[in-house]
Amino acid sequence: MSKYDIIILGSGPGGYVTAIRASQLGFKTAIVEKENLGGVCLNWGCIPTKALLKSAEVFDYLKHAEDYGLSLEKADKDFSKVIKRSRDVAGGMSKGVQFLMKKNKIDVIEGFGKLKSGKKVAVTDNKDKTTEYQADNIIVATGARSRELPNLKQDGKKIIGYREAMNLDKQPKSMIVVGSGAIGVEFAHFYNAMGTEVTVVEYLPNVVPLEDEEVSKQFERSIKKAGIKVMTNSSVESVDTSGKKVKAKVKTKKGEETLEADIVLSAVGIKTNIENIGLEDLKIKTEKDKIVVDDYYKTNVDGIYAIGDVVHGPALAHVASAEGILCVEKIKGMDVEALDYGNIPGCTYATPEIASVGMTEKQAKEAGYDLKIGKFPFSASGKAKAAGKSDGFVKVIFDAKYGEWLGCHMIGAGVTDMIAEAVLGRKLETTGHEVLKAVHPHPTMSEAVMEAVAAAYDEVIHI
Ligand SMILES: Cc1cc2nc3c(=O)[nH]c(=O)nc-3n(C[C@H](O)[C@H](O)[C@H](O)COP(=O)(O)OP(=O)(O)OC[C@H]3O[C@@H](n4cnc5c(N)ncnc54)[C@H](O)[C@@H]3O)c2cc1C
Repeated sequence: MSKYDIIILGSGPGGYVTAIRASQLGFKTAIVEKENLGGVCLNWGCIPTKALLKSAEVFDYLKHAEDYGLSLEKADKDFSKVIKRSRDVAGGMSKGVQFLMKKNKIDVIEGFGKLKSGKKVAVTDNKDKTTEYQADNIIVATGARSRELPNLKQDGKKIIGYREAMNLDKQPKSMIVVGSGAIGVEFAHFYNAMGTEVTVVEYLPNVVPLEDEEVSKQFERSIKKAGIKVMTNSSVESVDTSGKKVKAKVKTKKGEETLEADIVLSAVGIKTNIENIGLEDLKIKTEKDKIVVDDYYKTNVDGIYAIGDVVHGPALAHVASAEGILCVEKIKGMDVEALDYGNIPGCTYATPEIASVGMTEKQAKEAGYDLKIGKFPFSASGKAKAAGKSDGFVKVIFDAKYGEWLGCHMIGAGVTDMIAEAVLGRKLETTGHEVLKAVHPHPTMSEAVMEAVAAAYDEVIHI
């Protein structure tokens, strides 16, 4: 039986990054994958959606060429080519992981892995042949899939999840998106930009409900302006798929409404892949659909760890990777600090983009802080004006007493590439005045961070 120092189940951004770090640390490492290397993120999540959104952005520029003094006969699209480009990008990324595995001398074992007692993993391949492997340490990184609600059972055709949504043969004329988290609104934006009539139904009072309320409100205004119909405080009660069109009964504050569309996209969250992988046999604790782990991702069973979407914390690729790196560094005996879940950035890549880290204004108030808040609109930014993208703002939240940077919330073009400044600033316990004294380049969107901080301290220049 082949023996390893570390075997990892699942090759998403949790699994494959962990494998590389483990190999760097000198561990003999293997990774088990039942599908494509790179997991959801590279194949069905972060990357292919961003490829679709890039097509939407370019299409939008083409449609608005006149605004930039340019002319074009007619902006048009080929939906199947847009989808193909996204699939090709995903395929290329997965091949990249294959290369990284080889480069780092990591064995890739194809098949479905299951934990066995005695620190073994049984892998069943697509010919139903099962082989056992042994390891001193096993890390579960089996990720998650689209969550199904009982009244919104996905049939893959008329009621679909994210996988189908990024790989449709034909563009639907109309679509109901249930759920307005990042995944829901990214697809809503993509399909709306492509010309599909989109309605977003959100159960909570605000779209992108985890964001700062001001950001949610601005986002709702922007997507409505772009033509997306938004129904908040509303829930889809049932969907009738018997006819040519789907009919969704939606409960709103004003009563019941029936919406008709070609297709319903269910974007109501995720369900972890923790079934049939041997957790029960080994008596590994789970709670609320997650594997229970300590600060360094050890389960209640010696030598078995879990990271990524299968454990507590935000289900994000960068979180999965950071957890995996910490996990193997701890196994190596390194003196590592536990992950600060209060300083994880979250991004939504619709138009406008949203990026945030730390507390919202409401959370900071509830935590009892006395606040200094600054806001700078992109309408006052030279770079945003020049780009024709002046929707949105940067909002910063500081503790008035000690100057701690409690939160940063951005909405606008390119903000997902700007949030790292706040993450780093907060990690280094930077005060507002230190941000102000760090000269930002002109003209850039990032100046808006400096100006928002200046606004918090009544020193703003451009408003
Ligand atoms: C549409 C969409 C867009 C997203 N966009 C973003 C984004 O922009 N930014 C971001 O940070 N996050 C994004 N996410 C979330 C991100 O994809 C996940 O948080 C991330 O992929 C989790 O990584 P993971 O390694 O835990 O699991 P996964 O990426 O889910 O990988 C798990 C892997 O394990 C394999 N596996 C499962 N069970 C077994 C088994 N028993 N044996 C062998 N292999 C197994 C699976 O086939 C899969 O390849 C998005 C998700 C979706 C669905």
